[in-house]
Amino acid sequence: MKIICIGRNYADHARELDNPLPEQPVFFLKPDTALVLNNKPFFYPAFSEEIDHEVEIVLKINRLGRHIDQKFAHRYFSEIGLGIDFTARDLQGKCKKKGLPWEIAKAFDNSAPLGKFVPVKSIPDPGNISMRLDINGSTVQKGNSSEMIFSFDRIISYISKFITLKIGDLIFTGTPAGVGPVRVGDRLQAFLNEEMLLDFYVR
Ligand code: MG
Repeated sequence: MKIICIGRNYADHARELDNPLPEQPVFFLKPDTALVLNNKPFFYPAFSEEIDHEVEIVLKINRLGRHIDQKFAHRYFSEIGLGIDFTARDLQGKCKKKGLPWEIAKAFDNSAPLGKFVPVKSIPDPGNISMRLDINGSTVQKGNSSEMIFSFDRIISYISKFITLKIGDLIFTGTPAGVGPVRVGDRLQAFLNEEMLLDFYVR
């Protein structure tokens, strides 16, 4: 199982970090050791002083595929959920400055809390899914899949040109604007179309 994450897929978020808008999807990987399941707490790592939350819609791949045509891509996922792409922004800043890969900032243990999934069939329009992240009861991030630069289908088609997708793989589809730091004691609650799918504490 692998986790593939799309970067800079919401224009407002790319701008808030002073990144140019991508012409092709940008992606990176996290290992399976990044996952935190069942609303278990996220333990703040000692190597960073700036862990940012990035709430993202997550697709769960349900069949093997490579070189997937965009018009068939919707057949490759039947469940949608929410996850957090935790980012050590201080380390990422250093990597970016030196042109180095991002793994230490993005792929560390527990960097991907993952919530419940819902069937795609239960969602009226996958092109119009709202997501929201609340911290300690206040909304900090809000977005809608209609604002994505690259659609779910485009992302699946693009990734599968380079990497074979397998059953159970997860695709984090990018975060909307409003990313910011978390602190020990924070409670994070993420909602998909007003349904809470993820609820955990930072410890
Ligand atoms: Mg992200």
